[in-house]
Amino acid sequence: MIEVFPFAGLPVAVFGLGRSGLAAAKALAKGGAEVWAWDDSEDARARAEAAGVPLVDLYDCDWRELTSLVLSPGVPLTHPEPHPVVGLARAAGCEVIGDVELLTRTMRNAAYVGITGTNGKSTTTALVGHMLRLAGREVEVGGNLGTPVLDLGPLYASGVYVIEMSSYQIDLTVSLTFDVAALLNLTPDHIERHGGFDDYVAVKKRIFHRQTSPRTAVVCLDDEPCRRVFDELEKAGDQRLIPVAVGRKVAGGVYVIDGTLYDDTEGHAAAAADLASLIVLPGAHNWQNAAVAFAVARAIHIDAPVAGACLQSFAGLAHRMEPLVVIDGVLYVNDSKATNAAAADKALACHDRVYWIAGGRPKEGGIAALAPQFPRISHAFLIGEAADAFAATLGDEVRHSLCGDLASAVTQAAAMAKGDQGSVVLLSPACASFDQFADFEARGDAFRELVDALPGERVEPEDSIAASAASGSYRP
Ligand code: ADP
Repeated sequence: MIEVFPFAGLPVAVFGLGRSGLAAAKALAKGGAEVWAWDDSEDARARAEAAGVPLVDLYDCDWRELTSLVLSPGVPLTHPEPHPVVGLARAAGCEVIGDVELLTRTMRNAAYVGITGTNGKSTTTALVGHMLRLAGREVEVGGNLGTPVLDLGPLYASGVYVIEMSSYQIDLTVSLTFDVAALLNLTPDHIERHGGFDDYVAVKKRIFHRQTSPRTAVVCLDDEPCRRVFDELEKAGDQRLIPVAVGRKVAGGVYVIDGTLYDDTEGHAAAAADLASLIVLPGAHNWQNAAVAFAVARAIHIDAPVAGACLQSFAGLAHRMEPLVVIDGVLYVNDSKATNAAAADKALACHDRVYWIAGGRPKEGGIAALAPQFPRISHAFLIGEAADAFAATLGDEVRHSLCGDLASAVTQAAAMAKGDQGSVVLLSPACASFDQFADFEARGDAFRELVDALPGERVEPEDSIAASAASGSYRP
């Protein structure tokens, strides 16, 4: 844990006592601050109290004594409207910051890598951490992914923090300048929390704030909003820029063509890694993640052959296109983390005959954008609040069943896929999980358990995927 010492002797408000909020409260207390912690939920307050975190009712306290409010990223800062506690802090002239801001004010000599984008952040953050660790660098990995940043270990001049930055965390980070910051992609998601798509893009772009050369911005050029961000940065000319692309060459950057990653960051393009053989990183979207991670590694002076070799040994992350098992010739894939249509689109594109389990709490726009993938769907099994709307979108074009919950979706999908050798039962919900599960991890874990309980002859997915990739029915 980090001891956040810059607030020693001062009262600091902490609102939102989930994992990162509790970690912030403890880290501040350890550094000598007087913590005033609060949460709207009685359960969260009880948990905090049991963990020794001092509670102060932030609706009924003297805000004139405070200078800073540490806000959990889950609490609305601006949209749909600021949380009342944010209003109280602002009225009193307090700054509103997050845990990453506390980290940077405390660990001032470490290097910082920030990864953002609509999708692929966790995978890319984990990849960068894996590559730096293998290359012998002292590294701590966290943020939106896994460990709250203030539960990470302390790092000094030779260390690198690799942080997954959601747009909410960027909003709460006012002084951090990333040594290397990367933007993967921009498609509509969480728009309701930012006011509109333009505001969302503006927040994401702030990951590059205050960067001057040799600090580096890695920007993937595969979508229009990201290309606009790149153009703006290029025009301003403040930092070093590394462009990344999948499917075409980019001068001076890193790109992937037909599964081969090329490095052109030093004036001559050279093949540096074979991504097509990596079964834990299937699909062009994962090539995007790998190329961005590679560019980040190059920006922090990892040699190309080392970076390329490190990519090959990545083990993958749970709940992201995670191959679970092959039962009677049918592959089961857990992509529970696909909480929006753009993510599910990438997952569907990896397979030809998909028994697709989807639904949950719907996002704006639904699944209309997935129409180009509809021919791949052998049958859709719809669950949760989104089921009726998804059924309406699929209409006559895609056969589908309303299954209610995940258990009956898995049972029905397994029964229908049985005998369709080389097909895939894919959980890639294109929805948030909160209508039926605590989070996407609980949803993915439930899927794994249900699949574990299915009868049939089992094969490790690695062997089977290699076989179907060789036969062309699966496109890694
Ligand atoms: P994030 O942390 O941004 O939510 P993850 O790495 O956890 O991203 O991946 C979430 C889901 O998004 C995965 O289940 C996968 O289907 C999809 N995905 C991963 N990388 C990308 C990408 N580069 N572009 C689009 N979708 C992606």
